[in-house]
Amino acid sequence: MGRFDGRVAVITGAARGIGFGTATRFAEEGASVAIVDLDETAAAEAAARLPLVEGAKAIGVGADVADGASVDAAIERVVTELGGIHILVNNAGITRDNLLFKMTEEDWDLVMGVHLKGAFLMTKAAQKHFVEQKYGKVVNISSTSALGNRGQANYSAAKMGIQGFTRTLGIELGPFGINVNAVAPGFIATEMTDATAARLKMDVDEFRRLNAEANPVKRVGGPEDIAAAVTFLSSDEASYITGQTLFVDGGISLGV
Ligand code: NAP
Repeated sequence: MGRFDGRVAVITGAARGIGFGTATRFAEEGASVAIVDLDETAAAEAAARLPLVEGAKAIGVGADVADGASVDAAIERVVTELGGIHILVNNAGITRDNLLFKMTEEDWDLVMGVHLKGAFLMTKAAQKHFVEQKYGKVVNISSTSALGNRGQANYSAAKMGIQGFTRTLGIELGPFGINVNAVAPGFIATEMTDATAARLKMDVDEFRRLNAEANPVKRVGGPEDIAAAVTFLSSDEASYITGQTLFVDGGISLGV
């Protein structure tokens, strides 16, 4: 018996990277899974690769989490095609890094739109189902960059905003059987960090090696590290935990 047998999990930005790793873990443990991503074809291809258990289903849904109509349609499709919704992981993300004096208004708005407004819209659309059934789990993906990171004023503000959003919803939604938590990853080897290496004109392997060296546990993370934390916080074992942000970063945020 899996921890998520009979549950429906929705993961945004899950066509690749941390989202796909998390979707995979949910599928392995019995959930039906909706992969929500900008590109419907990529989402459907990723859904087809999930290791589902017998009786579980997976769908790929093309949606922009920063757009209210798109989000509402995505949640309705999930409920219709998978028979409900129990778990939401707000993972979709982008970076538009630059020092403040070079950061454009568009870069600011895009990052706020995907991370903060996206988490707000998705959670608002899901919570009406969660409240009706008096059951729901939300995990928001923050970042160690919330603590401050040169060149990421927009991303850092959005990721710290996610933590405040999480604490507030912990208070508001707790009485309805809904847990809301956040996971703050450190360096995770994905296309997002590969793109950072490219922006810094560094070789990807060298960038990973330097980040591993600087980390207390002497390695970088993989999507499976975040998947383990997200699935724990989405499980019934974690039903007395809400409003929290769990740093999954090999200890880099300890600042030693
Ligand atoms: P990734 O490999 O770049 O994947 C992000 C996914 O989100 C992509 O499939 C992307 O689609 C999708 N996406 C972007 N904008 C979207 C939108 N408006 N609506 C729906 N989907 C959208 O990134 P990742 O490294 O897995 O990161 C996942 C999450 O973890 C993000 O929130 C990120 O900020 C956070 N995080 C990552 C790290 C790290 O080291 N990797 C560290 C801390 C936090 P497209 O490809 O079509 O754009």
